[in-house]
Amino acid sequence: MHLVAIGGSDAGISTALRARELDPSVDVTVVVADAYPNFSICGIPYYFSREVQPWQSLAHRTHADLEATGMNLRLDTLATSIDVDSRRLTVRDADGTESTIPYDELMVGTGAAPSTAGISGLDQLGPDDGVHLLHSMGDTFALEKYLDEHQPETAIIVGAGYVGLEMAEALTVRGLQVTQLQRGPEVLSGYVNSSRTHQGSPVRTHLH
Ligand SMILES: Cc1cc2nc3c(=O)[nH]c(=O)nc-3n(C[C@H](O)[C@H](O)[C@H](O)COP(=O)(O)OP(=O)(O)OC[C@H]3O[C@@H](n4cnc5c(N)ncnc54)[C@H](O)[C@@H]3O)c2cc1C
Repeated sequence: MHLVAIGGSDAGISTALRARELDPSVDVTVVVADAYPNFSICGIPYYFSREVQPWQSLAHRTHADLEATGMNLRLDTLATSIDVDSRRLTVRDADGTESTIPYDELMVGTGAAPSTAGISGLDQLGPDDGVHLLHSMGDTFALEKYLDEHQPETAIIVGAGYVGLEMAEALTVRGLQVTQLQRGPEVLSGYVNSSRTHQGSPVRTHLH
């Protein structure tokens, strides 16, 4: 039995670890678009606040730890298509070489894409423009490089969910003056809504 997992973050790695735990005879291959399997995405804001340093400390497990569990890691490998009938996954390596991987079972753990939130042109902008999305280690390195090279004094953070707030705190700790934008009247509105639903007595935080 050959299980292939696409994605090397929480979903992909936990699938691979659990499969090997339940049945060590299962062959497991994890296909990861970048070179950073099993990194703590949740810890990224604490890397920027310098509470977690160096960046390698964000790894839950090293590459060697993961391979020691018996899984096969295909890093810098992008899954591009699935042929369900022949049970083959097409992948593209960093050098552009295409190949296929046969599987018995396939798990797709490719995560979510950051929302452009209806901001026109956002999908055309990137780190070179001083505009950053934060989702991956690649995004993390790009923002760190920008901060080092440009030494900005101010930042605008769009969104006041927990990621936005954690980043506001991190950049403030680094000496930037942060302006946070939130479309509604409350920060952490997801939590407030959930508090309303489950407890009936919401906590309110107003933006000024
Ligand atoms: C800054 C930040 C802070 C967060 N803090 C918290 C927190 O404190 N607590 C909490 O519970 N959650 C937090 N989250 C959310 C949490 O990180 C996600 O819920 C979690 O990472 C989702 O894991 P996932 O495996 O589903 O997807 P992701 O972490 O998005 O991983 C997707 C994986 O798929 C790979 N991939 C994508 N496309 C392909 C492809 N075509 N081929 C091969 N590989 C591919 C990527 O390289 C990556 O390895 C935070 C998220 C962010 C961005």
